[in-house]
Amino acid sequence: MAYIGGPLVLIFNWNTEYFLYSLLAFWFTVHLGISIGMHRWAAHRSFQPRNKLIEVILHFLIVINTVGSTITWSGTHRLHHKTADTDDDPHKIDGQPFLTKLKYWFNFWPSHHVSPKSIGDLARDPLHKWFHKNYFKVLLIYIITLLVIDVNLFLYGYLVVTMFSIHWISWITVGAHIWGHTDHEVGDSSKNTFLMGLLMWGEGWHNNHHYKPGTFEFGWNWKQPDIGKHVIKLIAKPESLRYRKVK
Ligand SMILES: [Zn+2]
Ligand SMILES: [Zn+2]
Repeated sequence: MAYIGGPLVLIFNWNTEYFLYSLLAFWFTVHLGISIGMHRWAAHRSFQPRNKLIEVILHFLIVINTVGSTITWSGTHRLHHKTADTDDDPHKIDGQPFLTKLKYWFNFWPSHHVSPKSIGDLARDPLHKWFHKNYFKVLLIYIITLLVIDVNLFLYGYLVVTMFSIHWISWITVGAHIWGHTDHEVGDSSKNTFLMGLLMWGEGWHNNHHYKPGTFEFGWNWKQPDIGKHVIKLIAKPESLRYRKVK
């Protein structure tokens, strides 16, 4: 919906102030929800939030990004790490023709099978299960609430924000397997990129991440900025943090 809705809003209902607010909202929503919540917490279990309230907030932020529940997304993502660049990789980018990469950028991925065993930990967790089951209800209530308050809140606060988020995520799922440099020989096409590391709260250090997927640290030193890991230190139980060095 946001792929088409977002650009239509910008073309037919342009408002510079709302646009700038959307940019700001997206920058926080996508990184708190997807990089920290979905990716580092749910998919990799690299830390545990301090309390249930933080878990609920992360789940809510995950839902409003509209890329699926933690259980669905993590299953695919774990498979990607396990099978990177092989024919079993659900997000195989390396060696694909340009049009296929473009299709993937817009989230038209080939179907794949995720073993229920690989997401057993999430499927057994009551909160992950609840948000998985009620994913569309929560999303719908959020959208209706925005609409009731102000239609522009839906147009810019949801459609434009989500348009930015889904393209932004493709910079990693697709882009981080095309552009950048390799610092660790991990046997796949994952790349590190300084600019994306800086702007994407650490997600641009994708080659680091493929090398050590279990750690919450994506940038490993001051030359590799990673806003996400600093936020995680604030919201995580300190004893739950999985450090690269002690792994
Ligand atoms: Zn990857
Ligand atoms: Zn990952």
